[in-house]
Amino acid sequence: MSQVRVRFAPSPTGFFHIGSARTALFNWLYARHTGGTFVLRIEDTDKERNTDEALKVLLEGMRWLGLDWDEGPEAGGEYGPYFQSQRQAIYDEYLQKLVDAGRTYEKDGAIWFKLEGERYTAYDEYLKAEIEKVKTQPVVIEDAVRGRVERAEEKDFVLVRKDGSPVFHFVNVVDDIAMGITHVIRGEDHLSNTSKHVELFNAFGVEPPKFAHIPLILKEEGSGKMSKRDKGALIEEYEERGFLAAAVRNYISLLGWNPKDEREKMEIGEIIDLFDFPGINKGNSRFDEKKLSALNAEYLRELNLESFTFLARPLLNQAGVVAEDEDEDYLQAVLGLCQPKARSLDTMSELCAYFFQDEYTMDEKTGNKIAKKADPKDLLAEVLPILESLDNFTADALKTSLEAHAESKGQKVFAYFPSLRYSVSGQGGGPDLLPMLEVMGKERVVSRIKRFIG
Ligand code: GLU
Repeated sequence: MSQVRVRFAPSPTGFFHIGSARTALFNWLYARHTGGTFVLRIEDTDKERNTDEALKVLLEGMRWLGLDWDEGPEAGGEYGPYFQSQRQAIYDEYLQKLVDAGRTYEKDGAIWFKLEGERYTAYDEYLKAEIEKVKTQPVVIEDAVRGRVERAEEKDFVLVRKDGSPVFHFVNVVDDIAMGITHVIRGEDHLSNTSKHVELFNAFGVEPPKFAHIPLILKEEGSGKMSKRDKGALIEEYEERGFLAAAVRNYISLLGWNPKDEREKMEIGEIIDLFDFPGINKGNSRFDEKKLSALNAEYLRELNLESFTFLARPLLNQAGVVAEDEDEDYLQAVLGLCQPKARSLDTMSELCAYFFQDEYTMDEKTGNKIAKKADPKDLLAEVLPILESLDNFTADALKTSLEAHAESKGQKVFAYFPSLRYSVSGQGGGPDLLPMLEVMGKERVVSRIKRFIG
């Protein structure tokens, strides 16, 4: 069993941002890839913002994405408690170590960390030699993604505030030490904190973990980092919109990582096999809703019809498109037609509303286009009796009789199709026409055509 121990250390905020989800996923992937341990640690020192509700959103989001943690809330583990709010005794103990080592002082009621002192321990022979040469030595971070990063920490910083609360840098490092974390995989926005953290590790006489700072996720348009207000930023919304967790997880894995072979749709087992630091991009990645939808569509198409219907039904009910008591066989038949065109489950309501509702809107452009060739009412009046007389209202039977009729008129059967489709759906496109008429059934089709003819 590998010794790798990674952690996802969120501060619950009430939503599960795609950037946090990506950090969680990369840590999880690395743990699963190496056979290591994935720890979930809740950095809940900000009491105002850390409610039970906020924690729930986070845990549910993690579960939905299938990111199971080996240690942490609910899972337990030998290194708990896994909530920073419950670890004060450990922070006191670690603070005492720094006090004993002469690395703290008090000023304005706060406890400060003193930068000078034995800053570099023997673990890094290279640095020790360098220190002889140069006086103010920057901290060197051998980042698994960024490469060598140097940064000098010039000012002492606060460890414990006036009100007795420990600061993020301190508790973050103490927990990484106390929990035996070997690799810190986190967003690049933390790179600027890392020199402070390395100073603290050194002061404790502990070799810092390996760092891997992953690039930012930029919003779809513009240059900024994706924020919680940007469309597509929140994991819980994907769940509500009926996206498939496997598709979202697959997409997020590609935000900043790639398998180097252009592949996009991958089984999670394959991603686990291939995931490693060299595959993480240095450059920022950009959120691309279209790509996510396309990937989701691929996953949706692979579902069997029963599962697809099971997932789509509640959304269609909620959207008011499908009645609660709608016949399951009809629903399934309709979804069977629409599934190949589905990009996400929430767009299904638009795609198939007219199957269930007689009051569909007539697309004007399509209407005008059709009317340019021939009067659709005339064409429909011709075929209506044929449809009415069919006992067996199947796609095959429709094809045979409509073709026979067209031939008798010296027409191609396709001359009738746009008008037929338009009259029963109001649309210019949709599933294949004849199977669609079969699913709608004779009664519905005939009454819609009659209403259209007027
Ligand atoms: N609580 C910090 C955050 O949510 C953790 C940073 C880290 O991973 O070290 O950004």
